[in-house]
Amino acid sequence: MKEGSGQDASLREAALRALDNAYAPYSNFRVGAALRARSGEVITGCNVENSVNSLAMCAETLAVASAVSQGLTDFDEIAIVTEDSEPTPPCGACRQVLNEFAPNIKVSSYTREASDIRAAIVGDRGFICFGIVLLGESR
Ligand SMILES: [Zn+2]
Repeated sequence: MKEGSGQDASLREAALRALDNAYAPYSNFRVGAALRARSGEVITGCNVENSVNSLAMCAETLAVASAVSQGLTDFDEIAIVTEDSEPTPPCGACRQVLNEFAPNIKVSSYTREASDIRAAIVGDRGFICFGIVLLGESR
């Protein structure tokens, strides 16, 4: 989908602000996420890497954890922004985390310039997952 097709620009902008706080010195793949609760609150997250790779945290999961810590567990949309040239879907672990609270959540993935948007429902079959191809690496 292209911008102007009913996407929530303010949610994208909140994700973009979170992206600026991403800590990704190892992958240089910075991610910002903004999660909207049905009550209207917007909670953000960014990826936070660690020198111990398994301790890295995704932006989407961090946003969900922060929201839950504030007593929010009912969500209707999450916006994800990366600096990649293509919209980046959440990884499988983040999909599982989102599915725990909101199986029908709308996932809107944006490029930094919002020149391209990919929207999906987390529980849909055929949902494109984050993967090595999206990182531009070869197998
Ligand atoms: Zn993830």
